Amino acid sequence: MAKYIGAHISAAGGVENAPVNAHQIGAKAFAFFTKNQRQWKAAPLTDESINLFKERCEEFGFDADYILPHDSYLINLGHPEDEGLNKSRYAFLDEMQRCEQLGINRLNFHPGSHLKKIDIDACLDRIAESINIALDKTKGVTAVIENTAGQGTNLGHTFEQIAHIIDKVEDKSRVGVCIDTAHTLAAGYEIRTEESFKKTFQLFEDIVGFKYLKGMHINDSKKEIGTKVDRHDSIGKGVMGMQLFEMIMKDTRFDKMPLILETPEVDLWPEEIQLLYNLK
Ligand SMILES: [Zn+2]
Ligand SMILES: [Zn+2]
Repeated sequence: MAKYIGAHISAAGGVENAPVNAHQIGAKAFAFFTKNQRQWKAAPLTDESINLFKERCEEFGFDADYILPHDSYLINLGHPEDEGLNKSRYAFLDEMQRCEQLGINRLNFHPGSHLKKIDIDACLDRIAESINIALDKTKGVTAVIENTAGQGTNLGHTFEQIAHIIDKVEDKSRVGVCIDTAHTLAAGYEIRTEESFKKTFQLFEDIVGFKYLKGMHINDSKKEIGTKVDRHDSIGKGVMGMQLFEMIMKDTRFDKMPLILETPEVDLWPEEIQLLYNLK
């Protein structure tokens, strides 16, 4: 079995609950927040939490390669103003260090937003510099850039923007990419037919490179192609159609990495996971 499917599960009550919640829905991979994603500050992880997290990952068979935490939505690593940028860099480093403590080797984040105060290239340069700072102060954790829908002034919605960031990251061995299917479509890339799937992922290979791919977010979309609106839907319920998911499940380029559902109906996750496995 080369596909590792899971969901972004709750870590309410402590990070040590994440592997339990993932196991209960039949997941082989999972995503979670290592702290409250809507607050800047969080108490440090306790040794008890860290040890329990590691024990339970081992107990339920979750290898670090299939765990892809998501950073806080407050962080903007391309923030145009010093105060916001410094706050974001500090919070991002804290999240990278939490991963380090938990024995996790990758952290997924949205690149950042220019807020109409600096130009796109300047913002991308800032994001790369933010990554360099965090990588410099941590070991063994890869910074995984998620492609975005391009909502508002969010960057990272084109493969070129992602390539620009990677190009300016000093340690290329610790930068990666996570492709979100809903974001890809909303950003304007067609992926729903055999031909368009082939073309878009060839483009990804040419501009970014599959060697950087460290995970996928497997979501249906409520919004049509090119709308730049980020609204996930449950698998098979949005505008995506099942062919896309089947093509992903049958494509070895998506083997051996966390494939994470971020679909809105939590109760459907066990079914959705099975549905995807059945498409292989
Ligand atoms: Zn995300
Ligand atoms: Zn996502």
